[in-house]
Amino acid sequence: MVTIDSALRGSALDDLGTRVRGRVIRAGDPDYDSARAVFNGMIDRRPAAILRCMDPTDVARGIGFARNHDLVISVRGGGHNVAGNAVCDGGIMLDLSLMKKLSVDSDTRVAVAGPGLTLGELDRATQRHGLATPLGVMSGTGIAGLTLGGGLGWLNGRYGLACDNLLAADVVTADGQLLQVGPDHYPDLFWALRGGGGNFGVVTSFSYGLYPVGPVLAGGLSYPWSQAPEVLRFHDDFLATAPDELTTAVSLGVDATGAPALSIAVCWSGSPEDGERALRPLRAVWSPSTDTVGLTSYVALQSAPDTSFPTGRLHYWKSGYLRDMTDGAIQTLLEHVPQMPSAMSGVGLQRLHGAAGRVPPDATAFPHRADQYDLVILAQWADPLESSRNIAWARGLFDAMRPHLQDAVYVNNLGAEGPERVRAAYGPNYERLAEAKRKYDPGNVFRLNQNVPPGALGVGGVLTR
Ligand SMILES: Cc1cc2nc3c(=O)[nH]c(=O)nc-3n(C[C@H](O)[C@H](O)[C@H](O)COP(=O)(O)OP(=O)(O)OC[C@H]3O[C@@H](n4cnc5c(N)ncnc54)[C@H](O)[C@@H]3O)c2cc1C
Repeated sequence: MVTIDSALRGSALDDLGTRVRGRVIRAGDPDYDSARAVFNGMIDRRPAAILRCMDPTDVARGIGFARNHDLVISVRGGGHNVAGNAVCDGGIMLDLSLMKKLSVDSDTRVAVAGPGLTLGELDRATQRHGLATPLGVMSGTGIAGLTLGGGLGWLNGRYGLACDNLLAADVVTADGQLLQVGPDHYPDLFWALRGGGGNFGVVTSFSYGLYPVGPVLAGGLSYPWSQAPEVLRFHDDFLATAPDELTTAVSLGVDATGAPALSIAVCWSGSPEDGERALRPLRAVWSPSTDTVGLTSYVALQSAPDTSFPTGRLHYWKSGYLRDMTDGAIQTLLEHVPQMPSAMSGVGLQRLHGAAGRVPPDATAFPHRADQYDLVILAQWADPLESSRNIAWARGLFDAMRPHLQDAVYVNNLGAEGPERVRAAYGPNYERLAEAKRKYDPGNVFRLNQNVPPGALGVGGVLTR
């Protein structure tokens, strides 16, 4: 039924369409369904309109339109986040996926990148100059959400997180202003953007510092499952003294026959000779059953996992930081992994260490600065009828692991898990983020995210407004 309200809104949307460089996409348009789809096939939301923005002015007009019509706003960068907050029900989705402007200055070693770029697109452009900035580990992830949440990847040991290498950003705020933000301009906002997620405005440009990178010594080492406890312990001890040039990630899963499997992916970004030497213990003490480690281009490494994570599969993730690889943690993981209902699922232990761990916890909004594993219980399946089994498995393992985990979680791994978990994601930086929120988005216009409401926290953590 067409109500007067929706008819009015419809003509206002027509008008918006004439005032932007981009397009307004609505239900019934041929590309409405593809435009509202995100990486996680569990997410099925229907915005009143999708504004495919082309520039910051489009973004500001979209924000103004949503505010005037009292509509919720969602912001889509790469659309990769499993929580699916890039898309909303009944509101305005600001789709930045076509904003891919990019320049790379090899002299100053700075890349200026649009918010619609994926990791693969940025990496390919910087690698043409033999340069890279630390991002994540697969090419389809959007640079925007990744950087705003932190950004853990293969270069974090050597050069820190994506957010640590953000030099400046252009931001459209809730009142439609375009701010050029950096260490000397709006430093409180610049601080908040580096780990505080999409709470503070829409970033329309990211400037990153670049480093000479590649080729890298990288690949996977698989070990017999029977040796898993010893290998996990050995790998953990080995990392305690591993050089910053080495970053590793453990994967636990089941193979096509249902047999449990353990592998350690490695990336050494220093000289190959030093890398061969540094990796020797991982190859010698416990013999890998397969070893694919070799010199490879950084771009190839970044797209290696892509085929295992196609867009549209069903995902449910649980996550937390594991500081100590204790016998109890190992036993729990090894008991639960063989029971995963889907061979597409896995448990990842991405190591945060070196340069990323040495940044003071309050230097940026990303507080989790320590040598530790980002544990992700990643349930992935294809058949909707299998959803409850897969979700139950992920929850069961998470509950069992909880006593071994920090009360902390990487914001980019969170689903819709409630305010306590959001607080755990921002940790000791939460209050300062709330302060920035009060200043830059007091009406909580940007609330479809891992939200820091503008209200002050009073005694006992009770919201005072
Ligand atoms: C298969 C897979 C692998 C991953 N690997 C890694 C990894 O190696 N390292 C890592 O750190 N993370 C990783 N992630 C997590 C990833 O960092 C987050 O999902 C991230 O949010 C994706 O960013 P996006 O722009 O693609 O997401 P989107 O879903 O588009 O955005 C996520 C949220 O970010 C905010 N946002 C996006 N763009 C903007 C903007 N321009 N301005 C303001 N707010 C914005 C919005 O709140 C939005 O809801 C992975 C995710 C997946 C699915």
